[in-house]
Amino acid sequence: MTDNFWEENKCNRCGQCCMLQIRGNPRNIRPCRYLIIHADETTSCSVYERRAKKLARGELEYLGFNTHCNERRNSKNDYEGCPYNTNKTLLKVTVKKK
Ligand code: SF4
Ligand code: SF4
Repeated sequence: MTDNFWEENKCNRCGQCCMLQIRGNPRNIRPCRYLIIHADETTSCSVYERRAKKLARGELEYLGFNTHCNERRNSKNDYEGCPYNTNKTLLKVTVKKK
């Protein structure tokens, strides 16, 4: 792992790490309410600049996977095609609107 591990420009905006597992069930997944899914299927976060404060105030859902709104390196999973993967368990997630 290098110091530039979290270079944001490597992210392909697939949104997989912003999908929430309901009760920790990888088969029961829905997008975070702040995840914007664009027509070209890239994603962005509508509260990106404020998410850390929202997390601290308990306003963000946080289902125990340390994925969303945290440093990607702290995720317990890897995601297909994610440049930040570090040989963790691969979680296959389909990103689509609710
Ligand atoms: S899974 Fe990886 S590539 Fe996809 S949005 Fe998250 S950090 Fe970016
Ligand atoms: S609030 Fe967090 S989990 Fe939700 S879209 Fe933004 S970065 Fe992703």
